Amino acid sequence: MLRGIGGICCLLIFASTAWPQARAGDRAVFTVGTVKAQRGQTATGAIEVPAGSDAAMSIPIAVAHGAKAGPVLALLAGAHGTEYASIIALERLIGEIDAKQLSGTVIILPLVNVPSFQKVVPHLNPTDGKNMNRMYPGKMDGTQTDRASYLITMQVVEQSDHVIDFHGGDIDESLRPYSYWNKTGKAEQDALSRGMVLAFGLDHIIISADRPKDPKDSRYFENTASTRGKPSITVEAGHAGTVESDDVAVLVDGTLSVMRHLKMLPGSAKPTENPVWVDHLADVAAEQGGIFYPLVKRGAYVNAGMKIGYVTDYVGKVLFDARAKESGVLLYVRAVPSINKGDTIASVGVVGKAP
Ligand SMILES: [Zn+2]
Repeated sequence: MLRGIGGICCLLIFASTAWPQARAGDRAVFTVGTVKAQRGQTATGAIEVPAGSDAAMSIPIAVAHGAKAGPVLALLAGAHGTEYASIIALERLIGEIDAKQLSGTVIILPLVNVPSFQKVVPHLNPTDGKNMNRMYPGKMDGTQTDRASYLITMQVVEQSDHVIDFHGGDIDESLRPYSYWNKTGKAEQDALSRGMVLAFGLDHIIISADRPKDPKDSRYFENTASTRGKPSITVEAGHAGTVESDDVAVLVDGTLSVMRHLKMLPGSAKPTENPVWVDHLADVAAEQGGIFYPLVKRGAYVNAGMKIGYVTDYVGKVLFDARAKESGVLLYVRAVPSINKGDTIASVGVVGKAP
């Protein structure tokens, strides 16, 4: 159990409310970083990460503080600053969410990894070479990514009841849309996050049961919320540096559907009815570096042993064939010819039973 006696006491006091941890959402003024949002207003500003062993950074945020009280939902994109469709989806949502119609509060961080976006560097923060979705809950005496992760944990996750973490195929990944449902083993929390992931509407859902359980070592943003008892999900759409309207639309519409599911907006959610549940991932890694030639496209179904591509050296000699290890759906495949030993060639989602 994570809660001490005091935590149990608070749980009992708040048990009769619709959003047991949402004391932050009851405030007349909602504060995150430099933002102070009044009821019925959307305000913008930043989380200012101070300089330490390396440079300071400024993480842009918008807060829509609803005219009525309700849950606090945090939306975060751009931990990987070249997963553009998810970043553009949150930019659009800043304009589309009307705080006057809203019950509750939405904290939007559309672009966490600003250095990655500015320098067009995939996967990592070029300031310190760290992955901005692996260092949570962070610390102030670390490098830029550690400090940013700590401030996001304290100012965003701790003030939220739910989070949605937005990703997509990076510049080198051709990805079909899917979501993650983090199965924590806590029945009530898992039922709530299951409702969110169905309401989001993506029709392929990965059951994720192997994430860290310790809030002091949560690693991922979504997991930082889940290990603190906050039902949350991760979603992915977009691929290979593109901003296609279909990918942006599924992310925008999915978010609005979750907000209806959480009763933050009027109307009904549109949950996916018959999703493909992915039990686990069978990733294919490069045995050697060279030039990658794909033979399949994202979303294809592949059989175990099927050749999904091959790698040559720089003068045309085939080094190895890449084969699927298990049968399943190709969630993403490498989108560029350059490949190094150990890089992921493809991620195959092995289909399981509905939980
Ligand atoms: Zn990502």
